[in-house]
Amino acid sequence: MRLAGWRQKHGHRQCEHPKCAQNPAMPLAQFHGRKLGRTTFAAMQKNLTVLAVESSCDDTGVAVIRGRTVLANIIANQSVHAQFGGVVPEMASRAHMQHLIPTLDAALAEAAVQPADIDAVAYTQGPGLNGSLLVGATFAKSWAWQHGLPSVPVHHMHAHILAHFLEPGPPPMMPFLCLTVSGGHTQIVQVNSPEDLIILGQTRDDAAGEAFDKLAKLMGLPYPGGPLIDQLAATGDAGAFSFAKPQVDGLDMSFSGLKTSVLQFLQREMAADADFVASRQADIAASVQSAILGILMDKLTKAVAATGITEVAIAGGVSANRGLRAALGEKAERSGWRVHIPPMAHCTDNAAMIAMAGSLRFAAGCIGGLEVAPDPRLPF
Ligand code: ADP
Ligand code: MG
Repeated sequence: MRLAGWRQKHGHRQCEHPKCAQNPAMPLAQFHGRKLGRTTFAAMQKNLTVLAVESSCDDTGVAVIRGRTVLANIIANQSVHAQFGGVVPEMASRAHMQHLIPTLDAALAEAAVQPADIDAVAYTQGPGLNGSLLVGATFAKSWAWQHGLPSVPVHHMHAHILAHFLEPGPPPMMPFLCLTVSGGHTQIVQVNSPEDLIILGQTRDDAAGEAFDKLAKLMGLPYPGGPLIDQLAATGDAGAFSFAKPQVDGLDMSFSGLKTSVLQFLQREMAADADFVASRQADIAASVQSAILGILMDKLTKAVAATGITEVAIAGGVSANRGLRAALGEKAERSGWRVHIPPMAHCTDNAAMIAMAGSLRFAAGCIGGLEVAPDPRLPF
């Protein structure tokens, strides 16, 4: 009831845009891609205060932002999974239940805001683990309802990209391209507005972070191997070894062939010299990193050429990679790209990015009712 009243007061109405009608997962989503640019920045000027809950996997996050400023961004990590060597979904759901209230209390205290100061509550609708999403979404919607606030469902992968609108960086100018590289995703996305995001290319098999981790495992490094390869590569020779390049048309990518190529190479070398990996660790790491980055930078360069868009951002855990940052820096210097690299706290899963995406969507008129269900396979 209060929500209906709120809607009337603020002039939000059911969306008639065909894109909304096609998306049954968000029955109350109100999308108007084209009209959004102006509304977006108007919203930021209004300094909306948004609280957000992120619970797509095994981290419980609650954040509060005002405009583009992060007032609090709290993450409760779950240690319970370490003994199993991977995330146990049922345990993740239960841990979210334990962590949500203390994390929310901590976020409100750190941000020094009361529920009455908040304009909207955003939450991750998907994609992610079903149980984890269900706990976070139910909690967020109930808390919003209890305080008479509107709730806004957010797509987790959109949020990784829209995190670029958070301070401290200057917000990207639209349209921009974003290379999202994490343990689970590798995508090149064209962002026309916060509601109009198009995947131009993506991996056909492993994600870039997964490739880093699997290749590190072949080298005998512990999980997650991505950061270790990065570290070793700093002192290695990237031209020491070369591996077969995948042949994939267009802007799509593939990393599984590289894994086979490195595996066969290491088996061959180890047969001749059992100390090969240990003695050439840095050179192997540098060559492996160079092969992965070569694939990413090749496709990103093609995307820039195809679209004529030189405003380029990166997102996801792999954007921590120093080699990738350096390659982008070089493009900025030599090819005039305007590059956006987010701070690390905004790269890995966090609730501030959900709050930013929620704020932008809310400003565009998107509100989800209590009936909006989380969707582990929410379409992009
Ligand atoms: P997801 O949420 O999809 O699991 P994250 O965004 O949390 O992914 O990123 C984790 C991935 O990023 C892991 O695969 C990890 O190896 C990789 N990663 C993190 N830091 C680096 C780095 N410096 N170089 C390369 N890969 C990295
Ligand atoms: Mg993520």
